[in-house]
Amino acid sequence: MGGWTAWHLRQQGMDVTLVDAWGPGHSRASSGGETRVIRGIYGQDRLYVEWVVRALELWNALGEQWNERLYHKTGLLWMFVAEDDYAKLSIPVIEEFGLAVDPLPHADAERRFPQVNFNDVRSIYFEREAGYLKARHACRVVCEQFQQAGGSYRQSAVQPEYNQSGEIEQLILSDGSRLQADQYLFACGPWLPKLFPEVLGSGISLSRQEVYYFGPPAGTNCFETGQFPAWINFDEPFHYGLPSVEGRGFKIADDSRMKSIDPTDDPRIPSVEGIEKAKSFLGHRFPLLKDAPLIEARVCQYTNSPDGHLIVDRHPDSDNVWIAGAGSGHSFKLGPALGEHIAACMTGDASPLEMFSLSRLKNAVSSQSQHGTH
Ligand SMILES: Cc1cc2nc3c(=O)[nH]c(=O)nc-3n(C[C@H](O)[C@H](O)[C@H](O)COP(=O)(O)OP(=O)(O)OC[C@H]3O[C@@H](n4cnc5c(N)ncnc54)[C@H](O)[C@@H]3O)c2cc1C
Repeated sequence: MGGWTAWHLRQQGMDVTLVDAWGPGHSRASSGGETRVIRGIYGQDRLYVEWVVRALELWNALGEQWNERLYHKTGLLWMFVAEDDYAKLSIPVIEEFGLAVDPLPHADAERRFPQVNFNDVRSIYFEREAGYLKARHACRVVCEQFQQAGGSYRQSAVQPEYNQSGEIEQLILSDGSRLQADQYLFACGPWLPKLFPEVLGSGISLSRQEVYYFGPPAGTNCFETGQFPAWINFDEPFHYGLPSVEGRGFKIADDSRMKSIDPTDDPRIPSVEGIEKAKSFLGHRFPLLKDAPLIEARVCQYTNSPDGHLIVDRHPDSDNVWIAGAGSGHSFKLGPALGEHIAACMTGDASPLEMFSLSRLKNAVSSQSQHGTH
């Protein structure tokens, strides 16, 4: 979020300094890791669909301009074991925005994807424009492009310093230097609650999320990118994943919110229980992978708001301070469009939206499943 906003502000000729404690897309960040899913089915949330369409346009156009392939179109296989209202309600919305989704009869799905056991799947859809983004790599590319456009980047940890009226006067960097600006944006992901405990209070929760990569049998390529799409298994628990990208293994994750995590100090070792559960699901849904060994794993974290929507708002006590975050497991794909919106709020060209306000944190009732993750 910070990188894309800095890039957009710089495009408008602003003098921007981007500061990150560990560097773009590092392994503790929520944007770390190899890949993220991009999809347009978002229930009835029109704004997200609009932003997915804008983001796709920018992921594509800028990737081409920068000679970097950041978005890879694979399509997305939606498998509904539970009710499929989420897809049904979404179809008119995403078609209105020019994205295509095909309901797949079982016989067609079995013919197209013999790698999958569809026995207990009630309904199947194929979303054509969906795919994956090169996550960590994209963060680095955006930071490089920002610098090439004249932006300034510093690797340093930042603490805000407040004046007597409670406004942020300047930033203190970990090397002891100071930074002053007309406006500040804190897009600090899972570190936001530590930086602004009085504003975010208990409205934001962090959850540990494990991602596994399993190794297909030797000589098979039917789980590689190009041969298999991104996929979502809509059930309780909700599983999602990607084909093997660059030989790293077949990706699978359970979207259930696990226990809390300290993003700075906690070790990133996957749990034996999580691996066993993933193996059991894998063997059931993708029988060829029944005995596939775990070949890589990552532990990341979601920064969850109670209603699953993001935060993009002014600090309540400091007019020149903005807070953006609470990706709630689904914001990576939106990056280029979201950064554009945040930049427009900061320059006064757009107003912050109520659905992303800080004030709603106090009253919001948990309803993550209404618009899903990834
Ligand atoms: C396992 C997993 C799978 C996901 N899958 C998807 C998906 O498929 N599709 C999708 O769209 N989204 C997905 N998401 C969600 C998405 O990745 C996140 O919502 C998004 O990356 C959050 O970005 P961010 O910029 O808010 O936070 P981050 O990427 O965490 O960035 C925050 C940055 O702030 C820096 N920072 C923090 N404090 C300070 C400080 N004091 N001084 C200086 N720098 C500081 C950190 O170093 C960090 O680089 C997933 C998330 C996870 C964890």
